Amino acid sequence: MIGPGGTIGILGGGQLGWMISLEAQRMGYRTVVLDPSADCSASRIADKLLVASFDNETRCRELASKSDVVTLEFERVSHRIYEELEKEFTVHPPSYALLVIQDRVSQRVFIKANNVPQPEFSLISSARELDSASKEVGFPAILKVARGGYDGKNQARVTNIAELKAAWEGFGKERAILERLVNFQKEISVVLARTVEGEVRAFPVAENEHRDHILFLTVAPARVWASVQERAIEIATTLAHALNYVGVMAVEMFVEGDDVLVNEIAPRVHNSGHYTFGACATSQFEQHIRAVCGAPLGDVSMHGPAAMLNLLGDVWENGEPQWEKMFAEFPSARLFLYGKEANSARRKMGHVTFTGHESADAAAEAALRAYDILKG
Ligand code: AMP
Repeated sequence: MIGPGGTIGILGGGQLGWMISLEAQRMGYRTVVLDPSADCSASRIADKLLVASFDNETRCRELASKSDVVTLEFERVSHRIYEELEKEFTVHPPSYALLVIQDRVSQRVFIKANNVPQPEFSLISSARELDSASKEVGFPAILKVARGGYDGKNQARVTNIAELKAAWEGFGKERAILERLVNFQKEISVVLARTVEGEVRAFPVAENEHRDHILFLTVAPARVWASVQERAIEIATTLAHALNYVGVMAVEMFVEGDDVLVNEIAPRVHNSGHYTFGACATSQFEQHIRAVCGAPLGDVSMHGPAAMLNLLGDVWENGEPQWEKMFAEFPSARLFLYGKEANSARRKMGHVTFTGHESADAAAEAALRAYDILKG
């Protein structure tokens, strides 16, 4: 095991890298972070920051040579460089997981190959396939470009073949998938950790509300049947083993009737797991550190129902949010601010977690009320 005193190298210094660093330092580890931006969130606390692009192989190697283990908080790093590092250094998660997940097409094919349920989909790699894909999947559907999509980027909802054609051409005729628009009752996610030995521990299933394709609210435990929670954890565990994964990963899913369908996998700590930082005995960030350092995994039990409210740039629209009012009304609210500029209404600026409520409903209500208070 890489014990406290060891150095963790992190590719990416956004809010996820910042929170990994926070927990790492609390536990006595050092962190070296590589990020293209000198004032990224983790720059505030990283022991060392390397300012470089993720395609800069020399600087990525420098990060690895200064670290006992290399990990990431951002999946769109160069797979080639990451795979090179893996040959010489201790690197978690495996490059194979990145290869599968970075591309929506290979991710869907991988999920299918492992007999895990997901929305019906069809590949589109040429204009000829638009017709057959739409017949296979039907409308309404969602077109998703294979690479570079997140938070609703590079995807479009289409209701007929003309719209599909226009959307695909608008995306530069890139390789894409067409998938059925799922009429879900809930979106949920499983955040789990897997060790080198293959031990898996999942946090309580989270329920997620997206607004405009971006996560707005997480409530945990998810308000779904126990059988749905068990099924979700089973699915995420199957995928973690199949990827030979090491570290924390997240699987986002749709609940449609009795079915649990995989939307996507994230090879890193996840926004829907932020509630664990305060609501569980071990946070997802500490759990990731434990897993990549080869330490025994921590206790995933929850102190009680929790909610997490994402603070996007829109909360700053009317000026500084009403912090004092929120703290006064919710003494247990835990605020995390990422040290960013609110230069867009969609930018993730921070989040607040709410704990100590008697039910998930009450925690969700507190988060929604706090949102209104903060916006004034
Ligand atoms: P993604 O970028 O794939 O995570 O998608 C962002 C959000 O779009 C999801 O959290 C869903 O709310 C919605 N979405 C994505 N794919 C589908 C689908 N096949 N059916 C219905 N909603 C979807």
